[in-house]
Amino acid sequence: MGRKTFVVANWKMNGSYKANAEWLQQALPALRTTRAACDTAVCAPNVYLPQMIEGLLTSTTMVGAQNCSEHDQGAFTGEVSAQMLADIGCDLVILGHSERRTLFGETDSMVADKVKRAFENGIMPIVCVGETLTEREEGRTIEVVSRQLKAVLDTAGIAPFIGGALAYEPVWAIGTGKSASPEDAQAVHAALRDVLAQVDAQAADAVRILYGGSVKANNAKALFAQKDIDGALVGGASLKAQDFLAICECAECN
Ligand code: PEP
Repeated sequence: MGRKTFVVANWKMNGSYKANAEWLQQALPALRTTRAACDTAVCAPNVYLPQMIEGLLTSTTMVGAQNCSEHDQGAFTGEVSAQMLADIGCDLVILGHSERRTLFGETDSMVADKVKRAFENGIMPIVCVGETLTEREEGRTIEVVSRQLKAVLDTAGIAPFIGGALAYEPVWAIGTGKSASPEDAQAVHAALRDVLAQVDAQAADAVRILYGGSVKANNAKALFAQKDIDGALVGGASLKAQDFLAICECAECN
């Protein structure tokens, strides 16, 4: 089935009012033109979400957060809920990013609860899975990413993945300049789609599986050409508008 390519910027903890305004000014003309081949989103730090939501109103580019609580409200100092993200007009949230799992102790079951809560509040999750270098060297890539995905499917089902996306991000490729080869990434994406198909074959065919890990304009085209690679989650290269747009353009020649 034809899955529209989806390119998502993950700004991580970067940006400022001034830098974001410049990014918008540079990217908006291109983002405003209807991109037949590519859906786009920008996931910014929470404090800049209103600026990005307003700034991108005249485009079809969606706006996302990079985490949310598994609770709706209450005594959870410092947390932001999916209900609050929906309240300010946010569309998406990245969940289970490897930096959240390794630096902030997020477990498979916490990620699953967050996905369920986001979906219930109308926020579409981009669920990240990925193996460490050690796990890869031990030949455990498929086992690890399948476990991470199944935890979410058991709790939240397959529906959140339809409006949202699944992102395969090998931990060793994030921010390192080392990307998985298109063929290696394709093999993992196909295995992930098989796991989704065990729940619902028809729905699995509609799920967009993004690749993340040092995606740039010079490797995006070969990645997007793979059967089960339906777009990219882009960290470092999304901070410069021109670099982000160049990756989006790779979808158009797909
Ligand atoms: C990410 O953080 O999701 C990511 C893929 O980062 P980078 O593109 O910088 O590797």
